[in-house]
Amino acid sequence: MGIEVKYNQTLGKEITLSSLKEQYNAIFIAIGSNVSMKMQIEGEKLEGVYGGNQLLEENCHPNYQKKKVAVIGGGNVAMDCARTIKRKGAQEVYVMYRRAEEQMPAERKEIEEAKEEGIQFLFQHNIVKILPKEETKQVGKIEYVKTELVQKPGELRLSPVDIKDSNEQMEMDYVVMAIGSKPEQEIMEKLPIDKTEKGYIKVDKDYMTTQEGVFAGGDIIGTKATVAWASRAGRNVAEAIDRYLQKQ
Ligand SMILES: Cc1cc2nc3c(=O)[nH]c(=O)nc-3n(C[C@H](O)[C@H](O)[C@H](O)COP(=O)(O)OP(=O)(O)OC[C@H]3O[C@@H](n4cnc5c(N)ncnc54)[C@H](O)[C@@H]3O)c2cc1C
Repeated sequence: MGIEVKYNQTLGKEITLSSLKEQYNAIFIAIGSNVSMKMQIEGEKLEGVYGGNQLLEENCHPNYQKKKVAVIGGGNVAMDCARTIKRKGAQEVYVMYRRAEEQMPAERKEIEEAKEEGIQFLFQHNIVKILPKEETKQVGKIEYVKTELVQKPGELRLSPVDIKDSNEQMEMDYVVMAIGSKPEQEIMEKLPIDKTEKGYIKVDKDYMTTQEGVFAGGDIIGTKATVAWASRAGRNVAEAIDRYLQKQ
């Protein structure tokens, strides 16, 4: 179709928005939102705590042989992490999720397949602390509390509330955080376009950013993070860019 692909070109590093604007009439930013979020709990900086997205994207897995791994979260990223880690030889893999199984956002099929592969699920468990192995900076234990689910006004889903004094500890070798992702802050700060309150790229109804001729879509605009939504955005943006170029 005559599309030219230029590899190893990172927006915000090798290329800037202004350099692109000099060369192109329209630009579409679809850089995703793939930096794993943190929980801000004690021990999260210990060696052996990973972000789920980075672990899969950078393929930076440690040796899991004879190791116990806790994956925190209940979405598709958590399922992919848990299943990948199990297949890479981990002895025990636990998925720890704050709500009940019915509320898990991961696809049903993924959950069933994860169970068949021997992954253990700890529902209504909320990790509160990660403790080091004695005299090291390496993960040794996790501490969690049980939760109860309550209907809070204005909330669509039942909300997990920690049960007081239900703390328990479990020995663990690695912890993987798969509780959501956000855009790469360093790159976002370099983009001279408006962002939403949550830090995604702000677009209008035609997916145009606050810079004329610069469009954005997919996870980077903060819509539902699924392939279907991203694909639809790609198609909508292509049509919007076509309309925009015809007016030029
Ligand atoms: C582990 C995992 C499992 C998932 N499972 C499912 C699932 O089962 N079902 C489902 O529907 N969705 C799933 N998703 C979500 C789905 O993958 C995303 O919603 C979708 O890929 C978003 O598409 P996108 O094009 O916006 O961004 P991405 O697919 O993330 O693509 C962004 C691209 O931009 C590149 N990039 C990033 N920064 C820059 C930069 N500064 N300059 C240049 N290029 C850059 C990235 O390398 C990447 O290639 C999953 C996501 C993850 C991470």
